[in-house]
Parts: sequence; structure tokens; C-alpha cells
Amino acid sequence: MRGWASEQAPQIESGDGVWLTDSTGRRYIDGISSLWCNVHGHRHPLIDAAVRDQLDRVAHSTMLGLSHRPAEQLADRLVELAPKPAAAEARPPLSRVFYSDSGSTAVEIALKMAFQYWQQAGQAADAAPSRTTFVSLENAYHGDTVGSVSVGGIELFHTLYRPLLFDSVTVPAGDAAALADALTANEQQVAAVVVEPLVQGAAGMLLQPPGYLRQVRGLCDRHDVFLICDEVATGFGRTGRMFACEHEQVVPDFLCLAKGLTGGYLPLAATLTTERIHDGFLGDHEQFRTFFHGHTYTGNPLACAAALATLDVFERERTLERLELKMKLFEQLLSDLVEPLPHVAEVRRLGFMCGIEVAADPQSQTPYQPGERMGHRVTLEARERGAIVRPLGDVVVLMPPLAIEAADLEQLVEMTADSIEAATGAALHAQARAA
Ligand code: PMP
Repeated sequence: MRGWASEQAPQIESGDGVWLTDSTGRRYIDGISSLWCNVHGHRHPLIDAAVRDQLDRVAHSTMLGLSHRPAEQLADRLVELAPKPAAAEARPPLSRVFYSDSGSTAVEIALKMAFQYWQQAGQAADAAPSRTTFVSLENAYHGDTVGSVSVGGIELFHTLYRPLLFDSVTVPAGDAAALADALTANEQQVAAVVVEPLVQGAAGMLLQPPGYLRQVRGLCDRHDVFLICDEVATGFGRTGRMFACEHEQVVPDFLCLAKGLTGGYLPLAATLTTERIHDGFLGDHEQFRTFFHGHTYTGNPLACAAALATLDVFERERTLERLELKMKLFEQLLSDLVEPLPHVAEVRRLGFMCGIEVAADPQSQTPYQPGERMGHRVTLEARERGAIVRPLGDVVVLMPPLAIEAADLEQLVEMTADSIEAATGAALHAQARAA
């Protein structure tokens, strides 16, 4: 806090495409998509118009007892877009949508729904009230509310709160055998397994081995445990597919969406689930099997309008098709300009999610001292050069909007490489420069 108070954060006044302008007129490339959520750029004419149009009707009503067209249309579109089970799979599709307003609440809702489903003892055909715990991954991040922190596994963010949290069985990410053991050891105790599919974002862009998510799905099925996929960060094209689950043909029982859902315009989240879960909440009035959870701004109409327009832009601009070449360029730029830098320990990337880990001595895996704030120093250098990046510890995150054009992407990676060089005090890496 002392560090933050002593620095002057730029005041952002306006945005245009992938560029942000501050109150002094300085321009910056938005290298982190305004915290991983901007998709099609700032002030996209189609999304702007959709929000304005909705503003002319009504800014907010409630989803508690009422409904509205944008929320209903969006729910239909999300169900259509969600990963689908293969024809041979006897698995219910994701057919139901529950709205909220942040990634944390999207996860919180999935946890509570899974828990309550099993608790409806004597009512649901497969009620199992002993299923009161969750399995989560080491280094997981699912948000900052107490429920999502309970399934979090990042020491710095989560350990202090331990006395406030419910128990969750933690297993190492990427290790299917460990998950198998945990599910066997806790047979009939686990309500759901919760994962960030393919990439653990806030942990510093940690990649899981190919095939792992598919194994997780198989193990959940074997133990009749629900699978919650938190695609808050990976969803909406970040990994090169609309959803990360699609890379491994996995359909979860709960799909948590937020961030890119509105193109990064307005707070909105959705928790998608199946008919099986939905039906577990049906009953006569006096049975009170309702999911008693609803936030004031749940399904806000302006946000739903922005989300519908965001999905339209994906189609009109063929965003995912056009991303193919940009992902190759991104990989090439990182390999030419960033990987050769002497203090770069590792570059981890999937699609447009990238983490660059810097270290005092990559060879001996010696990290920088926390007091050096190296990740933060790179951020400050980048700001000087006209790029907004933000570190996770000593991992410099690059997550530009999917709409970024090749020239801006080149500029962003160049500025980041220069900033890492400047901050780490390395001499110019002549070879990489010459290339
Ligand atoms: N889940 C994941 C995987 C995330 O990366 C984040 C935020 N970075 C969240 C949940 C929480 O989302 P929010 O900040 O919107 O609450």
C-alpha cells in the first residue's frame, strides 16, 4: 500500500481500439485487455451502439421475479455456443444459465449449486448429503470472495484467510493420478472438482499437460462428481478456441463465464449448467428447494446488450479465424525478442494468454528478492514506452485484446522486451535485436 500510495497511477480518460489515453494525452497499448476482459477493442461501434440502444429503453430492472429480452436472448446464445457433448456421449448438454456480475460470483454460484444439489436429501433421486467438500488444484485462482477463495490455492492471496474458509481437498495441477487418489480417498464426500481448464492464469499462466482436462472429466464421471470449469479467464477466445474446454472435447457440469462475456464493457457473469442440476431444484413451494441466491445487478440489461453485441462481433469479424495468424505472430515475436533475454526464465503461452517469468539467474533458478519488485519495475518501464502490462509477481502478463492488429502486436512485444531489458539491467541482446 505504501508503494501504491507513493506512485501516481495514470488516469485513463478514453480508449480507442487497443489504445488507451490518459489525462495528460499519453497513449498506451492495452497489453492486458483491461485486466483480461477486453476482446474486440475499446469503443467498438457495434457494442457502443448496442449499449446506447438499451440505455434508451431501460438501464436496469431486476431478474428477481421479472425478466427481459436481452437476458433471455443471451441465455439462448450462450447455450448454443457452449461446448457440446459428442453424439456418442451420454452426457447432458449445458442448457441452463444463471446470471451474476463477476467471475468470483460465477464460481461461488457453481459451488453453492453443486453443494445444494447433493444436499436436497430425500428429494432428488440421487441425493447424497455426505458430499460436502470440493477438490481444487494447487495454485488455483477462482476469485476473491470467501467461497471462491476456499477453492483457491495461491499461498500469497489465500493462506491468511484459512480460518474463514471451508475445506477443500487440494491436488497438484496436471497430475491425474493424484486426483484419482483424492477422489477414492474421499468417496461420496466430494460435491465437485473445480479447475481452470488448460491454463492457471493468476498463478502466472501455468499450463497443464495435454490430455489432463479430459482425464479430469473421466475421473469425475467415474466417481459421479460434478466438474466445474472456471473459464472466467480462458473463455471467449483467449486460448484460440471460444472455450478452453473445446481443446479437449470436454463438457463440464458447470461452466463459469465472466470477463470477456461483455467484450470487457460491463460487469456480467454467467454460470451454465445442465438439466440434471436444474431439475434438482424443482419441488413444491413448501419444500423450499430454490437456489436462494441473487444479486441486485444480476443479468443487468445494459451488460446483456453488450454481451449480445460482443457475440455478434465474433461472427461478423470472424475474430477466431483471424486470430490464427496473430497467434503465430505472437509466438514468433516472443521467441525472437523475449525468450533470448538473459533474465527471462520462461515464456508460457496458450493462444493470447502469455506469462513471461523473469528471474535474477534463470540458470540456477534464483528468483529476484521480493523487495526488488522486478515485475512491477517492468510495468513502470513499459508505461514509459507506451504499453500497459501488469505483473503477477515476477511474471509479466501479456494478454492483448483479440482484435489487436499485427503492427500493434509487434509494437507491444517490442516495448515489453525493451522494458524487461531496461528493468533487469541486461545489456542489449545484440543477436535478437539484429534478427
Ligand atoms: N476465475 C478466474 C480463472 C480468474 O482469472 C478470475 C479473475 N482474474 C476470477 C475467477 C475472478 O473474476 P472477477 O475478478 O471478475 O471476480
